[in-house]
Amino acid sequence: MTDAVEEGIEALSFRDPDRAGALRERLADLVETVDTPVRVVHVCGSHEEAIAEYGLRAVLPDGLTVAMGPGCPVCVTDSAEVDEAVALARSGAVVATYGDMLRVPGSDGSLADARDEGADVRVVYSAAEAADIARETDDEVVFFGVGFETTAAPTASVLREGVPSNFSVLSAHKYVPPAMELVADHPDTRVDGFLAAGHAATITGTEVYERVAADYDLPVVVGGFEPVDVLYGLVELLEQLADGTATVENAYPRCVSRAGNEAAQEALWTVFERVPGQWRGIAEVPDATLQLRAEYAAHDARERFDIDAGDGDDRATDCICGEIMAGRAEPADCPLLGEACTLADPVGACMVSDEGPCRIDQEYGEVRGR
Ligand code: SF4
Repeated sequence: MTDAVEEGIEALSFRDPDRAGALRERLADLVETVDTPVRVVHVCGSHEEAIAEYGLRAVLPDGLTVAMGPGCPVCVTDSAEVDEAVALARSGAVVATYGDMLRVPGSDGSLADARDEGADVRVVYSAAEAADIARETDDEVVFFGVGFETTAAPTASVLREGVPSNFSVLSAHKYVPPAMELVADHPDTRVDGFLAAGHAATITGTEVYERVAADYDLPVVVGGFEPVDVLYGLVELLEQLADGTATVENAYPRCVSRAGNEAAQEALWTVFERVPGQWRGIAEVPDATLQLRAEYAAHDARERFDIDAGDGDDRATDCICGEIMAGRAEPADCPLLGEACTLADPVGACMVSDEGPCRIDQEYGEVRGR
């Protein structure tokens, strides 16, 4: 049997209906044992996609609600950060970024609008690809870096390995654990446990969540993205609630360890430092925005250019993306959903990104019980 076949069989086992059914039954037993409604907040757009794609909310037992928290990297990129990227594109720089970012509205249009006006805006899959563009031109190339630990670490590695002098990074990278603390702290958000993102934890390990579990007396389970992974993560959370414990469990051990990827962490913290910053529509989150360290100022777009991006105020809309990202609302609560805000004509970032809950809601149908 080849490696590819073995990998394929293993992947399918995480979609096995019998295993899913057994986990669903275990969940029902645990909800009965806990004997009070349970509200889990997951912190990853990929979890939301798996839950919607496989219809998992429809099989959750009554008494268990799974809501989305601040886990869509595009959705939490602040309007002011989009404005900076748009201003750089309009000023003549080549702006390269992930495809999801193009239609995210800032205060004065999106990168797609800037491109329609003639600006050079490119879609890339990585910071490395953006650096390659810089190697092939004399123009200034700015990588608009968004995303959590999973994308920030590769951005850091590219800068450490050496880039051309005409390459810089406009960092909107963010760091997840402090945002979980903010959600846990908020008096209007009810959370009984977190299902944490498996791919961010491949970089940081599970250890970083131990403070969240201890300080807020909340169980945290790091979970993967196949349907059986999600159900298994929920079972691990409910087991803790039933036992009255609040620790960090790793339900994704095939990819995640307690220590994480130490080489990636070394690159991450050599290049970036944590500073306070605005998460779109949610709040200013302390120590959760990743800023380039002074040693990398020559490749920091904010140091390199005098960016004229206005005041960064959000356009006045009824968009409640921030409330959804903070785990306090669901897409169905937004009066614009499917009416003024659609897949073809999105109003907010949550309708733009593949990991955005409003987009997922519209693509997969109404999301039950958030
Ligand atoms: S439906 Fe549109 S306007 Fe409403 S919260 Fe979602 S993205 Fe924002």
